[in-house]
Amino acid sequence: MAAKYYVGIDLGGMSAKAGLFDEGGKYLAKDTVKTSKSDGYAVTVKDLAGLVRSVCEKGGAAFSALSGVGIGSPGIIDGGAGKVVSWTNFGWEDKSLASDLSAQLGGVPVKISNDANAAALGEAKFGAGKKYTDSILITLGTGVGSGIILNGKIFEGFRGGAGEAGHMTIVVGGIPCPCGRRGCFEQYASATALLRDTKRAMFEHKDSAMWKIAPSPEQVDGRTSFTAAKEGDAAAQEGVKNYIMYLSEGILNLVNCFRPQAIIVGGGVSGQGDYLLEPVRKYVNEHLFVGFDRIPLAIICAALGNDAGIWGAYALALDA
Ligand SMILES: [Zn+2]
Repeated sequence: MAAKYYVGIDLGGMSAKAGLFDEGGKYLAKDTVKTSKSDGYAVTVKDLAGLVRSVCEKGGAAFSALSGVGIGSPGIIDGGAGKVVSWTNFGWEDKSLASDLSAQLGGVPVKISNDANAAALGEAKFGAGKKYTDSILITLGTGVGSGIILNGKIFEGFRGGAGEAGHMTIVVGGIPCPCGRRGCFEQYASATALLRDTKRAMFEHKDSAMWKIAPSPEQVDGRTSFTAAKEGDAAAQEGVKNYIMYLSEGILNLVNCFRPQAIIVGGGVSGQGDYLLEPVRKYVNEHLFVGFDRIPLAIICAALGNDAGIWGAYALALDA
C-alpha cells in the first residue's frame, strides 16, 4: 500500500507553522509562513495552501499522497462545521476555513479546531497524556489557555465555545480582565499575573532577595519569585504560595466538573516542574470533591512544548 501523509498546522497571528507526518506518527518536516491581519481571509487561505504544498515538498512527500490536513486556529472554532465562528484579532467571522482550504488543495480533507484545544489533543495523543483517555491541558502564558479532552476527543461544546477555562471566575468582583469581566482565572494564574504580583511584592518588600535576582522591575520574569522562594526569601515564598493557591483552585473547579485522569500543565511557568506541581498536587488532591474515589489525580508537565499544537493538528488530520 502506498504511504499516506498528513499535515498539521498551528495557525497564529504572526505565523502559521506546519508539520508533515506519515501515518505512523513520524515527524518528517516543518515549515512556516508569515500571517497578518492585513492580508485578509482569502490571501491567508491561499498562503496556508502554499504552506501545505511546501512542507510536503520539503519532506519529500508527493502531494498526491496527502491524506488529510488539520488546523489549530485562534478564536472560537466550530470543528464539526469546519468553521471559524469568530477570530476577533483577525476580524474573521463565520468563515468556512476547512472547506475553503480543502478547495485550494484539490479536495484533500481538512479538519479544524481551536488552537488551545488542538494543543490539548496533541498532548493527549502524543505527549504527556498518552496514558490517559481524559485529560485537560492548561497553558500558563500571557493568558491561561485550556483544552478539554474526554474519551480521546476534544470537548468543544456548542459551536466550539467550551474549554475557555482562563475566563472562569475565581474571584467575584476581582481583577479586571480584557474579556470585559472581573476575577477571571487567567488574572491570577497566568505568567502575566505572576509577573504583576512579583513586582508588587518587590515594591512592598524593599529588602526582599528578589531585588538581587532582578535589580530593576524590567528584569522580573516568571522565575524571579520562584528562585528567591527556593533561597528562603519570605516575600517570594508568600507570592509563590498565593500563585499556587489560585492555580490549584482553578484546577479544582475543572476537575470537579470533568474529573479527568490528568491535568497537564504547560507554558513557561511549568518549567518550575515539581517545585510548582508538588504543592498543587497536594492542594488539589486534598480538596477534591470526589472523596469516595481515592485514585489521585495526576498533575503533570506538558511534554511537547511549542509543538503541541502541530501534533494536535496532525491528530485532527488523521481523523479528517
Ligand atoms: Zn476574562
